[in-house]
Amino acid sequence: MLVILHHKTKKTLFLWKACMKRVGFLYSEEFLRHRTPDGHPERADRLRCLIAHLRDSDLWQKVNHVTPNPASLESILEVHSREYLNALRATCARGGGLLDEGDTFVVKESFKVAMQAAGAVCTAIDAIVADRLNAAFCAVRPPGHHAERRNAMGFCLINNVAVGARYAQRVHGKEKIAILDWDVHHGNGTQHAFEDDASVFYISLHQFPFYPGTGARNETGIGEGKGFTLNVPLPAGTGEVKYLAAFEDEIVPTLQKFKPDLLIISAGFDAHKDDPIGGMKLTEDSFAKMTDSVKGIAPIVSVLEGGYNLEALAKSVEAHVRALD
Ligand SMILES: [Zn+2]
Repeated sequence: MLVILHHKTKKTLFLWKACMKRVGFLYSEEFLRHRTPDGHPERADRLRCLIAHLRDSDLWQKVNHVTPNPASLESILEVHSREYLNALRATCARGGGLLDEGDTFVVKESFKVAMQAAGAVCTAIDAIVADRLNAAFCAVRPPGHHAERRNAMGFCLINNVAVGARYAQRVHGKEKIAILDWDVHHGNGTQHAFEDDASVFYISLHQFPFYPGTGARNETGIGEGKGFTLNVPLPAGTGEVKYLAAFEDEIVPTLQKFKPDLLIISAGFDAHKDDPIGGMKLTEDSFAKMTDSVKGIAPIVSVLEGGYNLEALAKSVEAHVRALD
């Protein structure tokens, strides 16, 4: 009914906007099939609780639900080595196990799930380039920003945002991509993927010193990419005032100067005050404010990274997605 009426009166136009149909939401139940051992923070319940929370709110009906396609092998190989990809696939085919010395586990289904998680970012980019969406949120797992070219790391198998950035360049001819990473951890994998490349600007705010140890202020890129990495390390206990000041003083001016064709957000929500891993003091509303401050610079594809308190994650994603409209 809204579609039929939408340009007849101002009131129905308002209703049309209230539908948020220009904001895409990409999710698949396949993402639940990457399972981790009992007690592992990066678990399928993160998405189960998020989806249940959104279904209970009006937001679920308002956003434009888009089914994520799997990424092509070609897209993944722009970011990861063939050797790593083969090893990941082989470990999964054998039934899974521990991938590194840390706590990055896979099961049989994980390879396929990870391909679809990266594919969600590409699908969102397709929809934005085709002008079917203004912005999109990819509710994916496993997360991606710690994954390096040749290895899995920190719960991450495939670097979803890095695959998306390269896809936007190769398939759609987008020249300049900005990646904004506000996960509480530094995105070492993403920084390393683009640190020598002036066409992809990587910006990260993160707790420091903290896992994974990278992301010092003086890491600003190398070679051709010098000046196209911005790290904003913040001490444990940092709250919204300092985060928003960093946006206003550094991040927004940097993005405005760079003029990206696309802004990809590595949207972790583990800087929330209730997160069991992070030590920061943000609230769900902080994520809405950060979103507001970068809206309008370029179309946004936002991709879930961390966030391990189930309720805080669900509420923060809701606030963030509402702000994308
Ligand atoms: Zn994190």
